[in-house]
Amino acid sequence: MIGRPSPFLTRFAPSPTGYLHRGHGFSALTAFEAARASGGDLILRIEDIDRTRCRAEYEAAAYEDLAWLGLEWVRPVRRQSEHMADYGAALRELSERGLTYRCFRTRREVASAIESAPHGAMETFRGEALSPEEEARRLKAGDAYAWRLSLAAAERALGGFDGLSFVEEGAGPGGEHGLIAVRPQVGGDVVLARKDVGVAYHLAVTVDDALQGVTHVIRGHDLFEATHVQRLLQALLALPAPTYRHHRLLTGPDGKRFAKRDNSQTLRELRASGITAAELRREMGLD
Ligand code: GLU
Repeated sequence: MIGRPSPFLTRFAPSPTGYLHRGHGFSALTAFEAARASGGDLILRIEDIDRTRCRAEYEAAAYEDLAWLGLEWVRPVRRQSEHMADYGAALRELSERGLTYRCFRTRREVASAIESAPHGAMETFRGEALSPEEEARRLKAGDAYAWRLSLAAAERALGGFDGLSFVEEGAGPGGEHGLIAVRPQVGGDVVLARKDVGVAYHLAVTVDDALQGVTHVIRGHDLFEATHVQRLLQALLALPAPTYRHHRLLTGPDGKRFAKRDNSQTLRELRASGITAAELRREMGLD
């Protein structure tokens, strides 16, 4: 547990792969104000498992930009890259229980397997373990592999997915609210550990939310589906389930979401253009 135990602990968890933009600011402010309103705290988590894409300069800029917005957060800040052992332990636990398998497929092979599958969506990939002989051969050849969760094995381990749910206090993109039944299928046989970095997003987030004692996960609609996967991992790892509040996404005049690559919408560019944090809040509809 990082920081003192809090009855309401939420987090903002940026990946330092670029400057924070208006959308990040909205999300961070929403989380911060919810914590304030409930007498709780905000933590920041730096999601930097992909060291090739993350830069120290973006992390430093994030602190500056968030402070400019008026946010306060509990320190120290957790950097995922410094906690790979925690994710490794969770992966080992799942593997020892027969819930994972090595996937040697390339990205292209996965994509084409999905195309020929009925749903046609990246996330619904369902693979299978190789035969022990074939796996031994690939390992000996030094072929790279990812670890995937076996949804079939997970279903057996939990005695079915019925009764698995999470509490949504905000709303999903389709207006979902209240007790939401988990649909683990949305994630398919999700990657738990990428070939290149040894862990993957869902596993790291699930472990961290539990280790950090997060009681409320407040984030955008774009991560609503991720909650189904993360709730499943919580159940498999016997971790507590936080409450969720998904919020609307800010869109530009063209109705599209702000993207990291849109430089004019980064918090630093906005600040440089002379807008104040109070004006920005108003523009975001936060007052
Ligand atoms: N690091 C993720 C992102 O930047 C957010 C993860 C989360 O809130 O669960 O989109």
